Amino acid sequence: MSMEDYDFLFKIVLIGNAGVGKTCLVRRFTQGLFPPGQGATIGVDFMIKTVEINGEKVKLQIWDTAGQERFRSITQSYYRSANALILTYDITCEESFRCLPEWLREIEQYASNKVITVLVAPEVSFDITSITCISCRFVGNKIDLAERREVSQQRAEEFSEAQDMYYLETSAKESDNVEKLFLDLACRLISEA
Ligand code: GDP
Ligand code: MG
Repeated sequence: MSMEDYDFLFKIVLIGNAGVGKTCLVRRFTQGLFPPGQGATIGVDFMIKTVEINGEKVKLQIWDTAGQERFRSITQSYYRSANALILTYDITCEESFRCLPEWLREIEQYASNKVITVLVAPEVSFDITSITCISCRFVGNKIDLAERREVSQQRAEEFSEAQDMYYLETSAKESDNVEKLFLDLACRLISEA
């Protein structure tokens, strides 16, 4: 009998400028809530959520950068053993989009080559819902604020295609695409494991 309470364990690391909504995305997914007010900072380095995918228990250890969102201040130890990275920007903040190449350089420097870089994977059907299984690495958050959008979907798609990265737009507030983001990624990680 297995000692473990899961079949798979994956470490997922969220990066991107301060204020883009990383903590809110993690809390929406792990706790099902959108933190009120500005103070979304949490006192732990990671949160855990176990999901079931095709009968397999998948434990996701999701690391959130708390106050370290300046380039080169996140050290190798943070990326070490990461199975996947989620690079996030805010669709209402041009600056957070323009910083993405800096983040990519940091990823190249520090992240292990085991980190997922594949763009599209075969379709896999979930027990929960049937969605295309893809590695989600690039996320535009706050789509509920459409009237304040500064970065068009087309620009983001062009950027993600040039970088060979999968792109998804989310709202932590409205819970749009948040489950999809993490479950697609978990599915992709299983198929790579
Ligand atoms: P972090 O610094 O990347 O962790 O960003 P936070 O998660 O702390 O969020 C920064 C601010 O953006 C907070 O005021 C959140 O309430 C807000 N925020 C985060 N996600 C969303 C979203 O999807 N929609 C809207 N409207 N606001 C969001
Ligand atoms: Mg945060």
